[in-house]
Amino acid sequence: MKYDVLNPATEKVIRTIELASEAEADAAIARAAKAFETWRDVTPADRGRLLRRFADAVDADLENLAALEVENAGHTIGNARWEAGNVRDVLTYYSAAPERLFGKQIPVAGGIDITFQEPLGVVGVIVPWNFPMPIAGWGFAPALAAGNTVVLKPAELTPLTALRLGELALEAGLPPGVLEVVPGKGTVVGNRFVTHSAVRKIVFTGSTTVGKQIMAGCADQVKRVTLELGGKSANIVFADADLEKAAAQAPYGVFDNAGQDCCARSRILVERSAYDRFLELLEPAVKNFKVGDPSDPATEMGPLISAGQRERVASYVENPAFQGTAPSGPGFWFPPTVLAPASERAVREEIFGPVVAVIPFADEADALRIANDSEYGLSGSIWTRDVGRALRVSRGVEAGNLSVNSNSSVRYSTPFGGYKQSGLGRELGPDALTAFTETKNIFISTED
Ligand code: NAD
Repeated sequence: MKYDVLNPATEKVIRTIELASEAEADAAIARAAKAFETWRDVTPADRGRLLRRFADAVDADLENLAALEVENAGHTIGNARWEAGNVRDVLTYYSAAPERLFGKQIPVAGGIDITFQEPLGVVGVIVPWNFPMPIAGWGFAPALAAGNTVVLKPAELTPLTALRLGELALEAGLPPGVLEVVPGKGTVVGNRFVTHSAVRKIVFTGSTTVGKQIMAGCADQVKRVTLELGGKSANIVFADADLEKAAAQAPYGVFDNAGQDCCARSRILVERSAYDRFLELLEPAVKNFKVGDPSDPATEMGPLISAGQRERVASYVENPAFQGTAPSGPGFWFPPTVLAPASERAVREEIFGPVVAVIPFADEADALRIANDSEYGLSGSIWTRDVGRALRVSRGVEAGNLSVNSNSSVRYSTPFGGYKQSGLGRELGPDALTAFTETKNIFISTED
């Protein structure tokens, strides 16, 4: 089946690709299962070396990968370069892991007890369209480092960088079958990863609705699953904060990637005594946010991914307090938008577009009550000069990734994942390989 890949900034077809059928997904899974038989036994040092070569190949192709993402996903060139660099860095970080995949020696009576971290087999990585490169890398790099092979399904809308990463893996010397990229529909290829018994784990990033279906499907085989799902994160600004800085930074915390970011701080909670002043400071920051041609290095925000996404985002916007600008003409453009007050629906649902609700709160307890009044719990920020309060509120917010006086959530060397319906399990950080291994315990008798 053919699929036309569009440039969301021009609405033009940039490439037509072939979507895999269920039989082709089965063939890719069989190749990955075969490759696992030898990949798991590649010595730790050689596996690390191959991952570093893969990282080098990504680095050498960085400008090409970034240009592909600008064209396919409408990401700004600055973001796209960061994203390709993130794949390189994640590969480099986990290239050190095979030689550090330690077990334990546990004191017991009558002998010696040791544990091994053993690979699972074939891991299925299912990726959404909003960050095609980093999210793929967060799955495949630690999975490969632990000795698994990977079948990777990019989103229908954004397959181009994943296909290129598959080529780069082969060019770098990874054996065929170790990283199989299978573009296709979620209901066909993604679903096959879930139902195929040779796939031993699913790493899914996407909507909470589909994540629940995947989790239910995995239950049938007690298949391991990591879920990274939606978010409705709160950016909590106290009156004692550096208000100028908090207001200047807030647009980047929600409008980056046109708000199509699971960590978007799409609710800004402001202490009532500072509310009017904060909105006064926010308005010029939003109006000056540079929206336009994503290939221009000065651009801060590109288009939305599709016409459907623009329609969905627009349905949340009634009587905005103020908006920034966006190009007219072809492309799925939407201006940065501030709702104050916002409808109940805009406050509760993940909009996944450049729309933010600004909400007043009375005190610390009220801020926590509003922040936690959500089915999601992925990230969030706390702006205050009071260190004790920063820690109290950080500990009180039910979310996996919090930043104080900053809106940045993601570092490859620190764990990432959600509370509540934002996900299950953690990616990245020093412990990522535990999610891609089984612990095996062996007791050796020392009795005569
Ligand atoms: P989506 O759930 O529609 O699709 C995600 C992926 O799953 C795609 O590759 C899709 O083809 C596949 N898929 C769809 N139906 C499937 C099925 N029945 N079986 C198997 N696979 C299936 O999500 P999307 O619209 O592409 O992405 C947006 C969502 O992703 C947002 O909700 C966002 O919050 C979330 N997201 C979460 C994180 C995180 O780390 N928590 C990161 C990025 C995006």
